[in-house]
Amino acid sequence: MKDEVIGARYITRETSHMEYQTGMDDIGSEVQDEVISRMNAEEFDRYTAADVRRALGRDVLSPEDFAALLSQAAFPFLEQMASRAQAETRKHFGNSVQMFTPLYIANYCENYCIYCGFNCHNKIRRAKLDMDEIERELKAIAASGLQELLLLTGESRSMSPVSYIGEAVRLARKYFRVIGVEIYPLNVDEYAYLHECGVDYVTVFQETYDSDKYETLHLGGHKRIFPYRLNAQERALQGGIRGVGFAALLGLSDFRRDAFATGLHAYLLQRKYPHAEIAFSCPRLRPIINNDKINPKDVHEPQLLQVICAYRIFMPFASITISTRERAGFRDNVIGIAATKISAGVSTGIGEHSEDNADKGDAQFEISDGRTVDEVYQAIEQQGLQPVMADYLYV
Ligand code: SF4
Repeated sequence: MKDEVIGARYITRETSHMEYQTGMDDIGSEVQDEVISRMNAEEFDRYTAADVRRALGRDVLSPEDFAALLSQAAFPFLEQMASRAQAETRKHFGNSVQMFTPLYIANYCENYCIYCGFNCHNKIRRAKLDMDEIERELKAIAASGLQELLLLTGESRSMSPVSYIGEAVRLARKYFRVIGVEIYPLNVDEYAYLHECGVDYVTVFQETYDSDKYETLHLGGHKRIFPYRLNAQERALQGGIRGVGFAALLGLSDFRRDAFATGLHAYLLQRKYPHAEIAFSCPRLRPIINNDKINPKDVHEPQLLQVICAYRIFMPFASITISTRERAGFRDNVIGIAATKISAGVSTGIGEHSEDNADKGDAQFEISDGRTVDEVYQAIEQQGLQPVMADYLYV
């Protein structure tokens, strides 16, 4: 693989964030323009209670209905939204709640995202697991009964090249039935390579769809290039990956606008690639090492619930993950309403699952829900729901 395809160190705050750099695939998609122009044209203030009622009365929602559900006018209808979201979830997913855990195999990062603990200027302990260490982590996680794994790295092509990630995925395949990755955006041929290695789904957080705001938050590294990131899910689908995940980091910018763009992005790609399995994550900002003042501002739990319910009602088939960034009680409520996937036994540090590895590298952010796999399993059952370890069979 062309591991050095993009020289992140040459991308600084002087680099135009809207211009593709050498080595970055430009697939010429029209989806980005449509997402951004419709997001910019949205006026959430214009929606009324009547618009919200109309949206909730429809079987299939338009993007405009979705915007109505995200608006301030929908906030008093949160109970009705939760009830409709719950009905959609049970109709499409039954009582199932998918369990998984993230495994961070490296925390080196070439990017300067000012809100993240892994950013290249933050003085933290950096580490990268070798294949023996990764296997120890995999065995420790598999012993908990989990069968789905999300592999993560910081975003460093030089320290965590695609070949390293591919090797880790092949190893993970020995122990897990479903593998996702949350890594730096790749070119189409690189996604095809990871697909061959056994990756089932790719999640890329766009963080914010407001490109002006994006520019002020991403001051260096390849992540600064807004369109290369935004089109990552489409490149992954073109590379043969079956599932793609979308997220804005709520609280970075106007959360209604970002949630609208996230949903619209997924909706347009679903129409273009009907076979694609779509997933949403709903992360809010969290405090990081050396900056405990970072917080999600105006996105409190009720607003977050509004966003999650709007995603569910707009895209009823999509998987929705509820993060350990949220407290246990909130997570348990949300799986009873709209979320279909929950992480358990989570560590965002490096090498913390196996006792033999010892804690090698610092965490990306503070988690709020530190429950074990067994504890989350029981919490799901206590709600009359069914914990599911894997929802996919290779034949
Ligand atoms: S958000 Fe991702 S790319 Fe940015 S500093 Fe953190 S790990 Fe690196």
